[in-house]
Amino acid sequence: MRVVAAGLSDVGCIRKHNEDNLLVDMELGLFLVADGLGGHAAGEVASRIVVEKVEEFIAQTAERDRTWPLDYDARIPYDGNRLKAALLLSDQAILDDIRENPERESMGSTVVACLVKGDCVTMAHVGDSRAYLLNPDGIRQITRDHSWVADQVANGILTAEEARKHPFRNVITQALGNGGELDVSIQELQVKELDRLLLCSDGLSGMVPDEEIWKIVQNSDSLAIAAEKLVKKALENGGEDNVTVVLVGFELDNILA
Ligand code: CA
Repeated sequence: MRVVAAGLSDVGCIRKHNEDNLLVDMELGLFLVADGLGGHAAGEVASRIVVEKVEEFIAQTAERDRTWPLDYDARIPYDGNRLKAALLLSDQAILDDIRENPERESMGSTVVACLVKGDCVTMAHVGDSRAYLLNPDGIRQITRDHSWVADQVANGILTAEEARKHPFRNVITQALGNGGELDVSIQELQVKELDRLLLCSDGLSGMVPDEEIWKIVQNSDSLAIAAEKLVKKALENGGEDNVTVVLVGFELDNILA
């Protein structure tokens, strides 16, 4: 399977700073969106720490001979452990930075990351940055937000539509750098030809309905064009937050070895 990818981030129409960060590392097969929280330029520090720390740890653990820095979770595969540890180390790195720079006390970050190996994708997330799987059949959200409204939907108290408009829709239940116990969500999925993964911050998912996201991606000639059109649509719909998208596509390798 050949992997192609594109990423784009925009400050949006209202915010002064872009606190989102993204990573497209083709060599590691690592893709990530981090949405910084905290304002006063601190959010962008937090999301940058996440990008740097995750990339560093995934690079260091490409071979299995490294001493593991944290508890190894035998219930999940090696790549799931790599992502989980990378996120927990990012959490610690943000907290370390806050200790040295108390003025950034309120900073934190959500994150959604995926590690691609052939047709196997390992996903990890904390907070409400999302991953979607898109293909000619449709679009499916594959991460469940760590948010108050997502919990209400899961418990049958709110509908998905009510959640979209709820005044508490931005209340997340966990973030990196928050200081609390973290429950990193890890999942694995098999992808096939023509599948695409979209990683995004809530500046996209909160501004553009899923169906519209699907149409834009399906009708774009390349992932770079699709990324541009998605960001443009979020801005047209109000651009109330920073907008970040990473698209990963899977194509059959035509070269027969
Ligand atoms: Ca955001």
